[in-house]
Amino acid sequence: MDKLYGGIEAGGTWFVCAVGTDPDNLSAETRFRTTTPLATIKKAINFFQKQARSEALTAIGIGSFGPVDINPASPKHGHIIISPKPGWGNTDFAGMVRKALKVPVFLNTDVNVAALAEYRWGAAQGLDTFIYLTVGTGIGGGGIVNGQLMGGLIHPEMGHIRVPHDWNRDPFTGCCPFHEDCLEGLAAAPALAQRWGQPPETLPADHQAWQLEAHYLALGLNNLICTLSPQRIILGGGVMQQSQLFPMVRKMVQQILNEYLPAPEIVTDIDSYIVPPGLGRRAGVLGAIALAAESEQ
Ligand code: ZN
Repeated sequence: MDKLYGGIEAGGTWFVCAVGTDPDNLSAETRFRTTTPLATIKKAINFFQKQARSEALTAIGIGSFGPVDINPASPKHGHIIISPKPGWGNTDFAGMVRKALKVPVFLNTDVNVAALAEYRWGAAQGLDTFIYLTVGTGIGGGGIVNGQLMGGLIHPEMGHIRVPHDWNRDPFTGCCPFHEDCLEGLAAAPALAQRWGQPPETLPADHQAWQLEAHYLALGLNNLICTLSPQRIILGGGVMQQSQLFPMVRKMVQQILNEYLPAPEIVTDIDSYIVPPGLGRRAGVLGAIALAAESEQ
């Protein structure tokens, strides 16, 4: 029997579920709002139960917002540990899905699984060390180092790095509930909305908001480039739908690095170095399917 996988992209605002094996074989995609853990996870379970009536699933992968416990040896493996999202802390996400559907369930961070999909099918094919950063409701980063998904202590939390905050230029205090003016607190969508008093998607492309946004993202990327030496950086998420940000971020990264790193990828070919996801908005759910396929073998 052919294998068939389920994928859940669990974002802070939306859940996306789908069934399939790869970008050319993806079906029955559905999308619904993230509300309470019980109601939202139940909707996902119902979706897969309907699918399972026609075809049995081999395994399910979940790419989740977090922090989540991705260590298979931990008793809390598959749990959302704590979350700025009310009610979601200490949720046994993978366990609830496993109990209801009786198939193997694997969980990793939303950004790590998106990176996995880009590695297999998208903008990171052929690389062994790269970063996937999402800029949306929050800022999250993951990726692959030497061919392996990033894990370690818990998993990277690249949105919560600190970047210089010039209080004269930007008196906004930042809105991360844990750190106020970390990168996420200054540059995720809620920060844009609070600083400028309107939803970021309604700000015109030539608004000064985007210069400041590109400035913070470039400072963050500078830290990540100098720390992890990625061969490419993929920038996804709702805020990066503002495509005018890409040229601004690229230029500012070059300015901040100040020709210190002699890599041609950065000096002469930065348009191919800082890129949108090759799989577009499907990277997350495809990554969850890739995680299921890779983990069950
Ligand atoms: Zn923070």
